[in-house]
Amino acid sequence: MALHQNTAIILAGSNLGNRLHNLTEAALFLQRLSTKKMASSSVYESAPWGNQNQPPFLNQAFSIYNAFTAHELLDVLLTFEKSQGRTRKHQWEPRSIDLDILFFNNEIICTPELTVPHKHLHERRFVLEPLAELISDFIHPVFKKSISELYS
Ligand code: AMP
Repeated sequence: MALHQNTAIILAGSNLGNRLHNLTEAALFLQRLSTKKMASSSVYESAPWGNQNQPPFLNQAFSIYNAFTAHELLDVLLTFEKSQGRTRKHQWEPRSIDLDILFFNNEIICTPELTVPHKHLHERRFVLEPLAELISDFIHPVFKKSISELYS
């Protein structure tokens, strides 16, 4: 039986510890999840969002392929974050690794635990910049605009 190939676009972010090492660990993990070679953007540095009294972030976007549902994928990502020592005490606190699902195919998902496309992606340069490198022609399923249009 052929497995359905889902495409998930994920943004990794780190602003605690060895940020590049944390992104590399996340990339290895995501590649292991992916049923074919994933695509990745360059690494971008960005000022912190929300609480600005914290170190700058490194961000990188990835495109992975698998047979998970979006909710299954979220569980797998949250488990990985925990295994990397990620704790959640306050909103906008420094984080060793943060993995967000930006898009999941063309799906629009609105549940208490998961919002896809990611809620604020269209208004954040640090998300749009790596996305523009990775999938500039992809049409945002809610706003019906390409990533490059949203970015510019
Ligand atoms: P954060 O502290 O920003 O990493 O928020 C993580 C929480 O946001 C998770 O526990 C998820 O339940 C929720 N969440 C909602 N939508 C998404 C999404 N698209 N990707 C990842 N987490 C999400």
